[in-house]
Amino acid sequence: MRDAIINILGTAEASDSAAFADSEMLDWRDGVKGALLSDGILKELDHARAIECDGCDNRCIEKVRIRKRAGGSVIATVYCGARDDIGSVNVPLDRLRRWGIDWDRLAHLVCKSLGASGPSENIVPRRLWRLGGNNIDGMKAELFLAVGLERAGGNDLRKEIRSHASLPSPVVIIPLKKPPGRFGDFRFVCLRSIMNVSNGRSLFSLDELAIVLGAKKKSKNAPVVVKTFPLSAGKDFTAVAMTLYDGGKMDVNISGAGSEVYSYEDMGFADGRRTPTTPNDLWGVLNAFAQFHGQITWKDNIGSQKERANLKKQVSLVSSVLQTFFQTNESPFHPYSKEDGYRTRFVITDSRTNR
Ligand SMILES: [Zn+2]
Repeated sequence: MRDAIINILGTAEASDSAAFADSEMLDWRDGVKGALLSDGILKELDHARAIECDGCDNRCIEKVRIRKRAGGSVIATVYCGARDDIGSVNVPLDRLRRWGIDWDRLAHLVCKSLGASGPSENIVPRRLWRLGGNNIDGMKAELFLAVGLERAGGNDLRKEIRSHASLPSPVVIIPLKKPPGRFGDFRFVCLRSIMNVSNGRSLFSLDELAIVLGAKKKSKNAPVVVKTFPLSAGKDFTAVAMTLYDGGKMDVNISGAGSEVYSYEDMGFADGRRTPTTPNDLWGVLNAFAQFHGQITWKDNIGSQKERANLKKQVSLVSSVLQTFFQTNESPFHPYSKEDGYRTRFVITDSRTNR
């Protein structure tokens, strides 16, 4: 469940025009899609203007042409640009549907659920909201929501945030990644650490917020908070070497920063639905990379047929988890290629005695 939320928030944080297709939303388990739709956090966008063509194996992205046929029915096609022998390919209309995050709606829900004094005030359109004051276990705080502090326009956002520095204990809620630089007394809380989905609704937990801010001790049953081992500025994943041991342990080495052993839970690969926790599917994918020396091609007969079909998505989710753990925007994987399949930028070694 957390995996889907991480993926959604990370994607939406990275780009103002982030959009999700039906096919991607199929992978969101545990009612994440239903909850986000019924809460109005996901709203339907204009249909895709360009789409991957189904006609060839080259993943060519082509412009969609929409025509009305005599009789009124609508037909969508793309023209394959990769191969001369394919020509026009029909596209099912459902494949063109896209959803994106309605940040105003999300700001409103966060404001309401956390009991901030509100009303949520949009300071910078679709980027920055002031949610109002709150009392978090006896501690007064002023809450903000900020999106995309590191993408274009982020400088102005950061300036705007700093202009509120005189408020008591300002807390900025951000989707996933803390911005670099100094922010004085500001504290940053990732939305993913306070957001969950249950019974078809999205939840934003004031208790979790209090725990993250250190106002409250964590209860035994609270979800596991992920540890981090930040890659310092200027380093990328080529500085990382991991060694997988039995019992869900990973020795993580960053050159120049030393080694530390983490559990799958520490790294954010626990299945959040179960207590005590078990490793999730993504941990299985990372283990497969260890087993295959950091490279998986379609020839490797790993996992079930369904897992292989999902590999593209899974690798992108593993990527998000690793980016959170290492606190970086660098990609842990080389770009996919048909010949080399998926390849890690880091070194990963399998030292398990039972596989
Ligand atoms: Zn094509």
